[in-house]
Amino acid sequence: MRPLGYTRATDVASAVALLAADPGTRALAGGTNLVDLMKLGVERPARLVDIARLPLDRTEETPRGGLRIGATVRNTDLAAHPLVRDRYLALAQALLAGASGQLRNMATTGGNLLQRTRCLYFQDITKPCNKRRPGSGCPARTGVHRDLAVLGTSEHCVATHPSDLAVALALLDAVVHLTGPDGDRTLPLTALHRLPGDTPERDTELAPAELITAVELPPPPAGARSAYRKVRDRASFAFATTSLAVLLALRDGRVETVRLAFGGLAPKPWRALTAEAALRGRPATAAEFAQAVDAELAPARPLPDNAFKVPLARRLAVRELTRLAREQEDR
Ligand SMILES: Cc1cc2nc3c(=O)[nH]c(=O)nc-3n(C[C@H](O)[C@H](O)[C@H](O)COP(=O)(O)OP(=O)(O)OC[C@H]3O[C@@H](n4cnc5c(N)ncnc54)[C@H](O)[C@@H]3O)c2cc1C
Ligand code: SF4
Repeated sequence: MRPLGYTRATDVASAVALLAADPGTRALAGGTNLVDLMKLGVERPARLVDIARLPLDRTEETPRGGLRIGATVRNTDLAAHPLVRDRYLALAQALLAGASGQLRNMATTGGNLLQRTRCLYFQDITKPCNKRRPGSGCPARTGVHRDLAVLGTSEHCVATHPSDLAVALALLDAVVHLTGPDGDRTLPLTALHRLPGDTPERDTELAPAELITAVELPPPPAGARSAYRKVRDRASFAFATTSLAVLLALRDGRVETVRLAFGGLAPKPWRALTAEAALRGRPATAAEFAQAVDAELAPARPLPDNAFKVPLARRLAVRELTRLAREQEDR
């Protein structure tokens, strides 16, 4: 039996101070990922700082007409928020595509973004894994990798990031608010998660003892429609094999605004900047969509059992772009 300390934080400053005082301390939000990893022996904290009751549980409109989402807002509450349903449909759909109702009732905004990979070897402490034990190897490359990444990988790690929420937030140009021992700062959501490179043990750009306090969304682009689509092995309670968040606005049959972000393809939400640049100003046709998505997926380096993800992602993106384009032409 190992002793485990527990403190319920009452304000952000004291939570940060407790985290900074001992590197063996972990923040506990909904606990749906951290506690599972503790049971598996992957995480072995000496102390938990419970941040779930910090006053970070509000979702509010910003003066600019955007949205500020507190780090401890539960996934269920965020999906049901009237402003999210009205203005950020892809976000509501991504949240509802995640996990199960019971899990979403517990899971928080910050915890969802910082959940760890579901790679089987990462979760099994009897196996080597560079992310869990740097330098021990990556058995996924020659072992079970069907659900793992095809873009942004390195020879040291091919894990995917499992969050649906993060993919929608990448689409929406979200900004993450952080507080740590050195004060407050912000990061674009797309800069929060890291590619593995030579240091797969570091998932994010968070500094030690830093907390996510909020996520801020700018107002959605005028006239754009958005959606989140998730391909998975079961209709519910399953992580994304491949997912897509997409946003499109047309003018006179041409692409005025377009954004795409893939999930399940990479170690971080994959914002498709190459495809977006190729599509701006182009006719909104399936052929143009396919050409742009092919350019985005060209750097993919799949392994034998996940090569199917490349054509799957292509079909998903072309189909959703075509559907959103038709909806706008019909209006
Ligand atoms: C069976 C199952 C199915 C699932 N399916 C899906 C799915 O389909 N899609 C999906 O997206 N997710 C899925 N999940 C994952 C689930 O959404 C996450 O476990 C949950 O969102 C994590 O949030 P939490 O608040 O419980 O985090 P916790 O478990 O409390 O924390 C997770 C990590 O984040 C850190 N942390 C938490 N909050 C903060 C903060 N504010 N600042 C700094 N660090 C923080 C913790 O220290 C910990 O390291 C599934 C989980 C399970 C168990
Ligand atoms: S893919 Fe990454 S997380 Fe999975 S075994 Fe390899 S190093 Fe570990």
